[in-house]
Amino acid sequence: MENTLPTITYNLSNSSSEKYRSIEVNGEIIHWIEDIDKFYKLFGYSQSMKKAGVLPQEFILDEFTSSREYDFTVCMQIQIIEYLRINSHAFLLKYGNQCEEWLSALEEIRAFNPSVCATCKIRPFCCG
Ligand SMILES: [Zn+2]
Repeated sequence: MENTLPTITYNLSNSSSEKYRSIEVNGEIIHWIEDIDKFYKLFGYSQSMKKAGVLPQEFILDEFTSSREYDFTVCMQIQIIEYLRINSHAFLLKYGNQCEEWLSALEEIRAFNPSVCATCKIRPFCCG
């Protein structure tokens, strides 16, 4: 596969950082997250977890990024791209044309490993 996939990162770990709430695509800030809870909800974080005192970052770490059997990077990338498509005009302007290509490439990667999504809590793009 061609190496056309973007590097997408979000910065929510340090509220004193000037990049806090930003989403970067290939190292460039493209979007500022307005509603953090809404953003984390993409990954299955719920209001009841919030009430129970679960921190969203801990949830993400536990569910998706700490050493587990599965690598959920692809699932998360798909979700963030879909989020940006809906919420970020700047993203659409700059990457709108490449979006479909990225998503289908990610879908291909995901299709190679269906067991990943069988355990994945991301909705609605995953079906575990
Ligand atoms: Zn998944």
